[in-house]
Amino acid sequence: MTTGNTTVEQILITPPTIEVSELSVRYAGKHGAVDALADISTTIEGGEFLALVGRSGSGKSTLLRAIGGLTRARAGSVRVGNRAVSEPPPQVRFVAQDYSQSLLPWLTVRENVLFGERHAVQSSHKFKVPVEEIIADVGLSHAIDRYPRELSGGMQQRVAIARAIASRPEIILLDEAFGSVDALSRATLQDLMLDLWRKFGFTAILVTHDIDEAIYMADRILVLSPNGRGLAAQIPIALPRPRRQIETREHPRYLEYRRKLLESVLSAPSLKSAEAA
Ligand code: ADP
Ligand code: MG
Repeated sequence: MTTGNTTVEQILITPPTIEVSELSVRYAGKHGAVDALADISTTIEGGEFLALVGRSGSGKSTLLRAIGGLTRARAGSVRVGNRAVSEPPPQVRFVAQDYSQSLLPWLTVRENVLFGERHAVQSSHKFKVPVEEIIADVGLSHAIDRYPRELSGGMQQRVAIARAIASRPEIILLDEAFGSVDALSRATLQDLMLDLWRKFGFTAILVTHDIDEAIYMADRILVLSPNGRGLAAQIPIALPRPRRQIETREHPRYLEYRRKLLESVLSAPSLKSAEAA
């Protein structure tokens, strides 16, 4: 496998369907309750690449955390396969924005990824990919015996991704996972993730405030309304795969999606500006 989603051997698994039904989440904040998410329903097919976009505070992370069993529903439910989520489902892994906190600093790249493998999901698919192959997949073979502090931010995030993959998840939840690196590293991380997604066949759910990133990567985009008021729009992205940084972004349909999404994100007034008006 090489970056740029070219030659990819496929190791396909069959991730479970995720069913979000009339989900609402309320936080008990210091200054009273915060309704972070209202009445969200959607079905996420096994192997889908879904993106969640919306203004800051629209509940993107809350929805991701609810799917990952880290946040309790006030009403409604999340089901992963045939089980209602009340704690983190075993087949799920998170990749967060802050790579510096997610790696174990006293372990090398290889040892960090082995750590992921040792905490692998017990599941039906029997394949085992050596950690060296996964480390090669994220382009870090040359740095396999280095420590996190010896790596750039983009490289550290690649280790975090490799570690998640080594645990053979069926569902990967990415919260602004490419948001802390420079633009070129970001494009590389996007392509790496698409390559891995194609090779392993997991379901990917990506939270991002970057509309272009969402279109470039996803099969479908959910736009969340400001202040947790629910789903504003749902846009299937019918762009050919494999996606390519230049060609995909120049595709005529890409520009249509971009316009639609910008309209949807910008036109939905935030509650605060509506109150001020
Ligand atoms: P997004 O990821 O779209 O920026 P979040 O899901 O992080 O939005 O937050 C949605 C709302 O819930 C925001 O108003 C935020 O301040 C609030 N919120 C998030 N986490 C907590 C928490 N642990 N306690 C109280 N309020 C929270
Ligand atoms: Mg967030």
